[in-house]
Amino acid sequence: MKKIVITGAAGFIGSNLTDRLINEGFFVYGIDNLITGSLDNLSHLSSDNNFDFINHDVTKHIDIKDKIDYIFHFASPASPIDYLKYPIQTLKANAIGGHNALGLAKKNNAKFILASTSEVYGDPLVHPQKESYYGNVNPIGPRSIYDEAKRFIESMTISYHVYHKLRVSIVRIFNTYGPRMKINDGRVLPTFIKQAVNNEDITVNGDGTQTRSFCYIDDLIDAILQLMNSEYSYPINIGNDDEVTINEIAGLLISILKSQSKIIYTQLPEDDPLKRKPDLSLAKKILNWNPKISKEEGFKLLVEYYKKNNLI
Ligand code: UDP
Repeated sequence: MKKIVITGAAGFIGSNLTDRLINEGFFVYGIDNLITGSLDNLSHLSSDNNFDFINHDVTKHIDIKDKIDYIFHFASPASPIDYLKYPIQTLKANAIGGHNALGLAKKNNAKFILASTSEVYGDPLVHPQKESYYGNVNPIGPRSIYDEAKRFIESMTISYHVYHKLRVSIVRIFNTYGPRMKINDGRVLPTFIKQAVNNEDITVNGDGTQTRSFCYIDDLIDAILQLMNSEYSYPINIGNDDEVTINEIAGLLISILKSQSKIIYTQLPEDDPLKRKPDLSLAKKILNWNPKISKEEGFKLLVEYYKKNNLI
């Protein structure tokens, strides 16, 4: 049986990935220090013979005696309020934690898969964003904590590939949503859903003309599974290219939830990207992958998850 290490296994994406890999017949060691992840996301696996949870901070040496075939480095606070609450930990989880995970991969001659981000493009001046775009990042702005951490670990990952011949994949994840996304993580979908369900004011930052493109978690996980067996080592965008304004998101959720909420406008946070949409041509070419779930379908699934778990 092939064995996998997932750092950040108790997080939104890490736990969905863990489930899928166990279903595919792998043994998973899930590592998390639980600062932003939650054991609730893994409780259904507590008696699963193909899963072992390790409560560990990846910035400390990662010691696993078993032979490992794949290492997924997904540990990092990821939502703006989380990484602003844990700035140094975020930088370290990526830079030092990522280096430790690469070291473990090298020791095992395992394939290494890095969770990177569309944030490497910063507030992009090129639209839609292609992998060849170098980005527009303020290196000392509030978002640099996350952006620069991911840019550093991309560079480190490529260096392990070039200098140590390690097999690697780098997935630049665009805005992703779905079950296990924290209701209070401050991101736009959980925040607006909670506000709309309770008929509270919907807090649109700025004038709401900024755009994002939202990908359902299952589409992302499909792409990651294909990437894991791909020989392509350079970054690949994964997301959905259905670009919408934040105003449109507010309107859509008001309509789906038949809400009485009104929209109010608040200040746009510093360096909040004005546009974001992945160019997916590389993913289509290399992985023959396309996102399948529309925002209308996916938003309903997210609402159902929050309702079923009494979170709204
Ligand atoms: N946003 C908003 N109101 C909120 C939360 C977020 O208007 O209550 C905006 C935010 O300023 C950004 C967009 O929604 O322009 C997406 O924000 P999110 O934090 O979900 O993701 P990211 O900015 O990291 O893509």
